[in-house]
Amino acid sequence: MDFKELQTVEDLKKVYPDHILEKFPIAGKGEYYKDVSDKDWNSWIWQQKNRISTLEELEKIINVSTEERDAFEKCKEKFHVGITPYYALLMDKDNDKCPVRQQSVPQMGELTILDTDLEDPLGEEADMPVPGITHRYPDRVLFYTTHNCPLYCRHCTRKRKVADPTSQAANDQIESGLKYIRENSVVRDVIISGGDPLSLGNNKLEYIITELRKIPHVEVVRLGTRNLVTLPQRLDDGLIEMLQRNLVHINTHFNHSDEMSREALLTATRLSMAGITIGNQSVLLKGINNDAVIMKELMHKLLLMRIRPYYIFQCDLAEGISHFRTSIAEGIEIIEKLRGWTSGIAIPYYVVDAPGGGGKIPMNPDYFVKREGNKVTLRNYKNSEYEYYEPEE
Ligand SMILES: *Cc1c(COP(=O)(O)O)cnc(C)c1O
Ligand code: SF4
Repeated sequence: MDFKELQTVEDLKKVYPDHILEKFPIAGKGEYYKDVSDKDWNSWIWQQKNRISTLEELEKIINVSTEERDAFEKCKEKFHVGITPYYALLMDKDNDKCPVRQQSVPQMGELTILDTDLEDPLGEEADMPVPGITHRYPDRVLFYTTHNCPLYCRHCTRKRKVADPTSQAANDQIESGLKYIRENSVVRDVIISGGDPLSLGNNKLEYIITELRKIPHVEVVRLGTRNLVTLPQRLDDGLIEMLQRNLVHINTHFNHSDEMSREALLTATRLSMAGITIGNQSVLLKGINNDAVIMKELMHKLLLMRIRPYYIFQCDLAEGISHFRTSIAEGIEIIEKLRGWTSGIAIPYYVVDAPGGGGKIPMNPDYFVKREGNKVTLRNYKNSEYEYYEPEE
């Protein structure tokens, strides 16, 4: 089946039985946008132009709480508010603890900056050989191509850069990044990042990707984008064909199953039908997904969308996101409640991206009990112990 046969959520009936479709509610246009034409609604340009950035606009869609109202005014100067109409319709109108709301509507916690918070929590600038490239690992680089995103996530680790017009990745930064990769033959994997690289137009993006693919030592091109979550309409026929032609891998960022609408399922299905692999990285967020039941549902629904769970990140030490942080023990406990209890392919790696540029450090439950001579005692997921005999010297 050609992915272009899937154009509307109705077309998904050709692929999925009802009991699966039921798990992905249609976001639709809601009351407020009901008169917007389908053409406009499905246009990513329209969605971007009509982003919600004021309290007045937001109040037309949800019942803003007193605390949210207060936080909105105080926080918007520090980190812009921008919410796509599509994403706003995923919100629970009456509950300000709704996971979709908490990720997009400012909260008072953003004003708190702890002594241990860091301006550049992952030390990305320290590992920058040229502006726009972070080269930390031996064989791969992060390549920042824009500082724009369709929606400003309140938990963003790159808050300091995102939406800042003075840090806009200029064309010469893209050129210097490409030059760096051309000249460094150790780079075999490039992760196009941002901001959200899908904020660039198709032509610009195709230029970057085709230039990368011309480089003889570059084997893998990955694209990190949250548009599947915040603006699935962005992945139109032209863009998907371009990604397909160029064998791009996608990594996206779902944090909660409430973000998984029928519209998002449509886009994910179109991508996988075009042969594009999709991974997901989530951030462990207090009050949103720091719960094994919620995480398991998220992972199961990712598999239904044929998205492979890749990472769960420990919330980093960026400024103004301390209200989202959990302990590391909570993350390990979630992994322990998944491993063995559900499909192995539903289980991502839980990692701490070490402050100061240490990179991703995997955190795992410990299943090793003890070693006596060549006898090793291990425990399984149900906590039963088993003995394994290693070869004698
Ligand atoms: C996460 C990251 C990568 C990619 O890491 P993988 O584990 O290969 O996905 C590369 N460079 C930097 C700086 C990163 O933070
Ligand atoms: S899409 Fe990514 S880079 Fe953009 S605001 Fe959200 S978390 Fe930050």
